[in-house]
Amino acid sequence: MSVTSNNLPTAELQALDAAHHMHPFTTNDELKERGARVITQAKGVYIQDSEGNQILDAMAGLWCVNIGYGRQELIDAATRQMQELPFYNTFFNTTHTPAIALAAELAKLAPEGLNHVFFAGSGSEANDTNLRMVRTYWAEKGQPQKSNVIGRKNGYHGSTVGAGSLGGMSYMHAQGGMPIPGIHHINQPDWWAEGGDQKPDAFGLARAQELEAKILELGAENVAAFIAEPVQGAGGVIVPPATYWPEIQRICDKYNVLIIADEVICGFGRTGNWFGSTTMGIKPHIMTIAKGLSSGYAPIGGSIVCDEIAGVINAIEFNHGYTYSGHPVCAAVALANLRVMQDENVLEHVNNVAAPAFKEALEKLAEHPLVGGLNLCGMMASLPLTPHKEARAKFAMDEGTAGFMCRERCFANNLVMRHVGDRMIISPPLVITPEEIAVFHTRAKLALDDTYKALKDGDMLKVTS
Ligand SMILES: *Cc1c(COP(=O)(O)O)cnc(C)c1O
Repeated sequence: MSVTSNNLPTAELQALDAAHHMHPFTTNDELKERGARVITQAKGVYIQDSEGNQILDAMAGLWCVNIGYGRQELIDAATRQMQELPFYNTFFNTTHTPAIALAAELAKLAPEGLNHVFFAGSGSEANDTNLRMVRTYWAEKGQPQKSNVIGRKNGYHGSTVGAGSLGGMSYMHAQGGMPIPGIHHINQPDWWAEGGDQKPDAFGLARAQELEAKILELGAENVAAFIAEPVQGAGGVIVPPATYWPEIQRICDKYNVLIIADEVICGFGRTGNWFGSTTMGIKPHIMTIAKGLSSGYAPIGGSIVCDEIAGVINAIEFNHGYTYSGHPVCAAVALANLRVMQDENVLEHVNNVAAPAFKEALEKLAEHPLVGGLNLCGMMASLPLTPHKEARAKFAMDEGTAGFMCRERCFANNLVMRHVGDRMIISPPLVITPEEIAVFHTRAKLALDDTYKALKDGDMLKVTS
């Protein structure tokens, strides 16, 4: 049977999905009971399911569809490139125009001194590249023992063995033998959940200084790099206190530890600048990119590398690369995406129009009795749910229960918000208008009201002891 159209009944599609499709980060047996929601098409900030529901996508797909769905410029770029040259590799002394043009464009957009691009097919792959690249860099500099990398608990850098090890998700480490040796994790700067009675600034400083302690414990001569997201995304949109990044920068400078800024979510306008490193005042040696690079229209990622590291790596044969490194169709789509971003002044739209309206809507939602605060940076935000607002308390029941209930009620109100534990995550397309943000607010408020009522009725608003 051919299943290439949306014409099959939803139940039939769900049955085939359950029979043959293993979903990522999913308990597939549970999903089978429920039936996966079948998404059939999308336009602007709305996705449509097989039942005809118009759902406002406040997650931009998976933090990536920054210029919205249905953009003809990207469709045309892909079509043209497929006709001209659908594939060629960049391994054996060959190159092609899309990879050249995209690398040059990224060097132009990136902060000063970051002028070289190693392409990958995804963010995970790019972080695997980074791990090998920083170790190779120090080995070539005559310091092969300077190979340890420090990441953060609850950081997210992807799902391959290397990237999953750099990340600090304990539920991922529990499966498949991660983290691999030579990777260490310090605590995250999550003031809302872990700050206790400390002031945010003091807490931010203390968490940054854990990096210094870890470097001294391992010996600075053994530490290659520190990797972090400027603002944690998948961990729950955790915006570090203002004291955090300047102290991290000071420590990395002092001990000659490279900084890998994972810009997979923060990059390409999400925080109001081209890169989150600019927003947070970080001077990275390597930036990981993916997601918003192509607005999710084609799978592409990469590492933007500083002159110093590129100088060393370019002098040797770096025995690393992917069949699809710099894939011409993906690169052409990414270029078209960056052109739209610039032609339509998407950053100006974010800073002058979307982010102010987004902030206003979220501040209103943060007043809800079920919401314990607001984490916000540009166009990424999270609302932690709590049974006790003032105490920033956690629920007595299993973590994620309330978040899951709220996500289901968002769906029921035609809104996509993701939950990370008991935090609701919002990361809409950057081109969202104030009118669409008003729709988001109305639906989110309904979902919060519904969730609050269900929790109350079920006597589930108990505080953890
Ligand atoms: C999504 C993500 C990744 C992984 O990217 P994939 O394309 O899913 O491999 C890496 N880092 C961050 C910060 C991400 O959000």
